This record gives sequence, C-alpha cells and structure tokens, in this order.
Amino acid sequence: MVNNMGKNGHEDRVSVKQNLRKKLIIKTLIEAAEPVSVAEITKKTSSNYPTINSLLSQLKEEEIVTELGLGESTGGRRPTLYRLNNEKLLFAGIEVGHTNNLLIIMNIENRVIHSITTDSREIIASKNPLKMLADSCHNQLISYLEGAGIPRENLQGVGIGFSGDLFKHFSGTKENDLEVLHRVERKLSMLMKIPVLIDIDVKLMTRAEKWFGKLKNVNNGLCINLTWGIGLGVIMGGTIQQGAHGHLEFGHITVREDGDLCYCGKRGCLETIASGHELEKKAREKILAGEKTMLTEMIKGDVDRLEEDIIVTAALEGDIFSIELITEAAKVLGVQVANLIKLFDPEKIVINGTLSRAGRLLLNPIRTEVDKRALYYTKESVPIETSDLGKTAIALGAASMHIHEFLKDSTSDIVKFI
Ligand SMILES: [Zn+2]
Repeated sequence: MVNNMGKNGHEDRVSVKQNLRKKLIIKTLIEAAEPVSVAEITKKTSSNYPTINSLLSQLKEEEIVTELGLGESTGGRRPTLYRLNNEKLLFAGIEVGHTNNLLIIMNIENRVIHSITTDSREIIASKNPLKMLADSCHNQLISYLEGAGIPRENLQGVGIGFSGDLFKHFSGTKENDLEVLHRVERKLSMLMKIPVLIDIDVKLMTRAEKWFGKLKNVNNGLCINLTWGIGLGVIMGGTIQQGAHGHLEFGHITVREDGDLCYCGKRGCLETIASGHELEKKAREKILAGEKTMLTEMIKGDVDRLEEDIIVTAALEGDIFSIELITEAAKVLGVQVANLIKLFDPEKIVINGTLSRAGRLLLNPIRTEVDKRALYYTKESVPIETSDLGKTAIALGAASMHIHEFLKDSTSDIVKFI
C-alpha cells in the first residue's frame, strides 16, 4: 500500500516534469514562429535529443504539434520539421464597443480565420449586460465552429477588451482594479465555459502594435486610441506600462480648467474637445442649427444616426464641415501629443481608432502643433503615424492574450495548452 503510494507519487513527479518539458517545447515553437527541427528544439530547451523526440511524438498524438516533413540538410540527413497545429490551437478575441462588438478567431500563427461585427447596444442597455455579453459571444463562437466543422475544444481561450468606462458598466462597480478584473474574468469563464482573460482596450491595442504592427521592435513607444473616447498605451523599456493601479489616463487629463463637463464628472477633459463622442455631439448641434454639410444627406436627416465613422467618411470625401471638425480636434490633440513627447521621449507614436482613418487630415494638424512646440535640442522629430492594423487591433491583442500569458509563464496552469 505504502509502496504503491510511493510509486504513484514518483509517477506524478515524472508526469509533472514531462508536462513542463512539453510546455517548453510549445513555447519554443511559438517563439520560433516557423517550423523547427528536433535538434533545434533540443538546443533551445537545453534538453537531450531522445527526450525531445519522445515528447514531440506524444504532442503529435495529442494533436498539439504537427510533423511537416523534411527540411533543408545542414550536412547530414535532412531533419524532420515540426510546427504547432494551427487547426487545433485557436483563440478568440473580442472588442466590446459602445455601438458594436467585433469578434475574431485567430490561430496560433496569428492568422485571423473568422471575423464578425455585431450590434452591442442591446447588450449594454440590458439589465444583466455581463450575462448577455457572455451568451452572445458564446453563441457566435459555437455557431461559427459548428458551421465550419471545427471541434469546440479546439478553441483554447477567449480574450476580451473593454474601454475603461464600459468595463465599469459591465462589472457593475466603479472600480477598474485588478481584483475586479479577475472577478469578471472568472464569471465570464464560468458563463462561457472557456478560459477568459480581460484587459483594457488601449492596452490590447498597444500589445497588437507591439507584436504585429508599427511598434514592433520599438522599446519606447506610445499608442493612442482615438475613437469614441481617447486612450493611451505606453511601452517603456520594451514592456507595456499600466501605472501603479492600472489607471494610466490620457482622455481625462484636464485641458481647459473651466471647460465643458465631461461624463467622468470633471470639467475640461481632453475628451470633451477631441474625442469621437465629442465630434458626434458638435456635429449634431451644428446640423440642428442648420449648418450645411454632406452629413445631413448621409444620415438621411436623422441626427441620431450620426457616428464618428460617418464624420470621417464625409471628411475623406471632401466635406468642409467634417474636415473642420476633425482639424479643430486634431489641433487640441496635437498640443497634448507634444506634451506626451516631452514626458515620455518616445521613438514613435502610433494612432489607431476610428478617427485615425482620417489619415493626413488628422496627422497634419497634430504634426504642426508638435513641431511648433518641439524643443530646440530635439534633433529629429518623433514619427507620428496612423496604424496599419485597422479595426481589428484590439481584437487581435485580445486574442493573443492567452498566448502571451503562456509565454510569460509557461509553467503556469492559468493558460492551458496541454
Ligand atoms: Zn473626463
């Protein structure tokens, strides 16, 4: 009896060790981002060839890894190459927005295989928005997987991005701290029957820029989410910063001491001048006051249909009214971007979000204000560019959360690949 227990204890330890080694193999394959040979994995995991070979066979049986055939010879026999099974390792990313939710499914090689946008307003207005969000996302995921003939268990995890104010609404508290975040994660995981990780939208957008976008290989960079609200993501020393309490804030910095009242309860915030919701408000007021614009036709005279995206489209089509709205916002934003440059000394600034689609119409006034305020010893101007990730940036960042958590701590059981 005692012997048996001892034996089981030994077997447990062996399987724990084996699992850790398997996780290291998976980590090596994710980081390599290309097919790798047994010899290379052995080297990178500081292990021995027979062990890696046997574990790879197990991972192949578990359908985590696939064999890719023979690679180029480096003198001897051509090596067998391995990669992660991109059909089995799928992740969903969801951006919860004020009017729309964007849901994507991405494979382990960062390729988006499915994307769907749905109206979010009914969910936000419902009595139990968290439950309704979970049900809606769960149904969309299941319906896609079943339709595509993909087993449900191939979906390894879901990442969700909220704006700060929407997170408060969905969590039902005034707090945005980590404790609340983890509580909501647990609740959503339970409701959706799958591991769920959550983060604030601009941090996920910054993560996406760092991994797939224009902040790749940038150690000190800023990412501005210019959309319904205004968010800031900060990369310093190669890592995404969140401040002591996760409350790093840009949209609600005071720009005019006795300015308009903001929805946050304070006066004169940046968002009361330069955000998408402020542009919508201004456009609505001016249209009702009888100003001429292409927008009136585009919204068929119904100001309730007015959205920031429509204003950008009208501006790009040459509507002076919309161009002026964007220019005024961009000037104010430019002054604050100049401040950010002085505070953070970044290598590059990337702007994403709905208003970034305005491109030069937005960037030129920002550049002018920044250059006016650049210090004499600033030898080169900091590049300020719009993102090329477009609307999927936050959902991409959300979908990659589980992969990044795993890479950060591949011994942890929070993120389960095996
Ligand atoms: Zn505010």
